[in-house]
Amino acid sequence: MIQTYECPGCGAAMQFDSEKQKMVCDHCGTSCTVEELEDIRTHDVEREDEVSGSFSEPEQNGEFKVYKCPSCGAELLTDEHTSATFCSFCGRPSLVEDRLSGVSMPSRVIPFKINKEQAKEQYRAWAKKGILTPSEFYSNSTIEKITGMYVPFWLYDYNARMELSAEATKVRHETRGDYRYTYTDHYMITRDVEADYDKIPADASEKMPDDVMDKLEPFKYEDLTAFEMPYLSGYYSEKYNYTAEDMSQRIEKRIRKYILDTTRNTIKGYTTVNIRHTNSRLNKQNAEYALMPVWVLNCRYKEKDYLFTLNGQTGKIVADRPVSKEKMAIWFVGIAVVVFVILMIIGFAF
Ligand SMILES: [Zn+2]
Ligand SMILES: [Zn+2]
Repeated sequence: MIQTYECPGCGAAMQFDSEKQKMVCDHCGTSCTVEELEDIRTHDVEREDEVSGSFSEPEQNGEFKVYKCPSCGAELLTDEHTSATFCSFCGRPSLVEDRLSGVSMPSRVIPFKINKEQAKEQYRAWAKKGILTPSEFYSNSTIEKITGMYVPFWLYDYNARMELSAEATKVRHETRGDYRYTYTDHYMITRDVEADYDKIPADASEKMPDDVMDKLEPFKYEDLTAFEMPYLSGYYSEKYNYTAEDMSQRIEKRIRKYILDTTRNTIKGYTTVNIRHTNSRLNKQNAEYALMPVWVLNCRYKEKDYLFTLNGQTGKIVADRPVSKEKMAIWFVGIAVVVFVILMIIGFAF
């Protein structure tokens, strides 16, 4: 079923405002906290249930599901993982409730801190930095497409233990008279290190490239709050594509590296260190389903897709940028002219 949040004042749609960290109605300006709105909504649903099952059941249509917009009645087309979207007809923010409840309910969310205007500003500044960035990337119609997206993540708690043995040396030199002496001391080192890693994130979305999401970190956990549906109103969101189990291998590779680094960092003050043997044991304690805020802009340029992403909490940017062949050509001509002029001057001087 589809859930939208109505303004208690005027009935228009309410959205989460990242600046105020509250729900705001753009129409009449009413605002309230997420908790207050959840209270109102719970009453509404109860009432509607009494009257009739007025929510439409989805029709299955290939990979897509069709819902009816409760506001204008238009058909809302969602793919099988969409959990928050907009009605393409009336623009009303709409949440697919069955993908946000039961086992699909996120337990935590970091609400957006950076709003659309700020995201657009940051994008413009980023695009300007590249002198070879094609002009299509600056157009207002491109910038307008920037999208706030709650990306599904798993946050893992792990206990890790590593046994490590290494051979190390300490080398010192001494000069006595005409002789220089080199002393090499040899050491056998063993370590047994145990560490707890809390909330190591891994994105669980098929669409988002893993390496890009890794680079968008860190998310600051001081803003991690209990999940409430209204936070998603006005953004896009998806249900996880991969379960916590599916992602285990990827996360364990990462934690193995962490525990190795942690252990290795305890060995200090030697001239050489040679690791001979390591043995690690990982113990998964917990995996929590959380949504992280990301601004996304996809640009297509010469048959290729370029992804701009911005951490919706910290403002960190991860993006790749195409190089415009035309702009490149101007540069090469420029360089060629400069070189030619220099050659001419040198030639003239001789
Ligand atoms: Zn209103
Ligand atoms: Zn609609």
